[in-house]
Amino acid sequence: MAISPSKKEVSFKMSIKKLHSMLLSKEFSCKELTQAYLDAVQRENSHINAYIKATPETALSAAKKVDEKLARGEELLPLEGIPMTLKDNISTKDIETTCCSNILKGYIPIYDATVWQILQKQNAVLLGKTNMDEFAMGSSCETSCFGGAKNPHNISHVAGGSSGGAAAAVAGNLAVYGLGSDTGGSIRQPASFCGIVGMKPTYGTVSRYGLIAYASSLDQIGPIASCVEDAALVYDAIAQYDPMDSTSQGKKAPVSGNLGQSLKGKKIGVPREYFDGVRKEVSFALQQALKVYESLGVQMVYFDLPVLKYALPVYYILACAEASSNLGRYDGIRYGYKTQHYNGIHEMICKTRSEGFGAEVKRRILLGNYVLSSGYYDAYYKKAQNLRGSIIQAFKNAFAQCDVILSPTVPMTAFKEGFSSQDQVETYLTDICTVPVNIAGLPAISIPCGFDGSGLPIGMQLIGDTFCEETILNAAYCFEQETKTETLKQVPMGVRL
Ligand code: GLN
Repeated sequence: MAISPSKKEVSFKMSIKKLHSMLLSKEFSCKELTQAYLDAVQRENSHINAYIKATPETALSAAKKVDEKLARGEELLPLEGIPMTLKDNISTKDIETTCCSNILKGYIPIYDATVWQILQKQNAVLLGKTNMDEFAMGSSCETSCFGGAKNPHNISHVAGGSSGGAAAAVAGNLAVYGLGSDTGGSIRQPASFCGIVGMKPTYGTVSRYGLIAYASSLDQIGPIASCVEDAALVYDAIAQYDPMDSTSQGKKAPVSGNLGQSLKGKKIGVPREYFDGVRKEVSFALQQALKVYESLGVQMVYFDLPVLKYALPVYYILACAEASSNLGRYDGIRYGYKTQHYNGIHEMICKTRSEGFGAEVKRRILLGNYVLSSGYYDAYYKKAQNLRGSIIQAFKNAFAQCDVILSPTVPMTAFKEGFSSQDQVETYLTDICTVPVNIAGLPAISIPCGFDGSGLPIGMQLIGDTFCEETILNAAYCFEQETKTETLKQVPMGVRL
């Protein structure tokens, strides 16, 4: 089948495995596949603002290598030749990396993040860098200095955040998969809003080297994809030990070949606190999901996790404290934006930071400095650290009773544009279901489980014990296979194959 970018039919997503086999059987060349995606990005990106930069030369040069391998009759690795994206906080040598902040506009890294080094060795086809909330701080992508990414299901709604661009690109079929980062939900929440799959791996499983830091004890890179198997394939590729990341935990066994194992006799935990204040339609979709699992032979275990009520304040104290320290490096001296007119170094630093950072980033730096200041350290930061220990322990106890914990990913569906700028605290509250996982360092995945009355996707979160990626991916895969036709919706845009 030849690819004709001008064909008028509605797009159809193909899985990584399907594209891999079509490349091998020469149904199209990698160059044709890549060009079809690049054309789609050029044609459609202005509607959803998923990409802030396209990288056609990088993409076509990888495609050329793949076509040469195919011509020599060589085997391809699973991700070889597959068109993908990177969030703009993942460093790419010689390609501008901005974190969607004015303070980093024009910054060209001199090294590649480890995840990008790994994927380049597999000849991944990088289509471009994706939109995000400034320094990954936000839940709607609207704090981006490039303006927010829009939801392909309804462009008057946001794609979510902070990895909103990656989710919009995958949902809009402008990329097969993307890498995002998740500090408090930034992979899972936009995946939920856009009706696709997003996984945050166990802390330390994927190298953070070259990921521009927001809150280092919580940040983790992971896959955003249109089906569970694709997410598993990408996870298998990037979950490698890296001596450049002191928190790296070492390679885990590949999981993508083990999907589809029976769930009979498995236990799903349902902590009541996760369902407090959840919108009716979301709650209903989750109840239906529980029934699907019951029909697969899973037993439900209901329990309380009262310590969860502290998760949100603990997250916002720790994340802001770490951010205030990490963002100290943007001072107009070493790299990035520098103010034009100043008298003396203090004024230079002050003006550079005042002009370069957006309002949300400044708010968090102020909050972070406040909770770390000598008079308040014990009352906020120290208390939050202690509570972090209690939250970790509560999850440990919970996993003694069940294999997987199920919850909504977000208590609602995608916000209308502008929601986040109205009330910051309201927006922070919507992170309630995603942040506990980062605090405890656990793996979690968001998968689609239905739609609300206006056709916006609803996401379900499956949380596993540390290093139990295989367990959550398998549980997610079984649900997806069972419900695919009701939970997945193509949007009429993107690449036409
Ligand atoms: N919405 C959360 C925040 O603003 C999570 C962001 C993230 O995971 N990067 O901090």
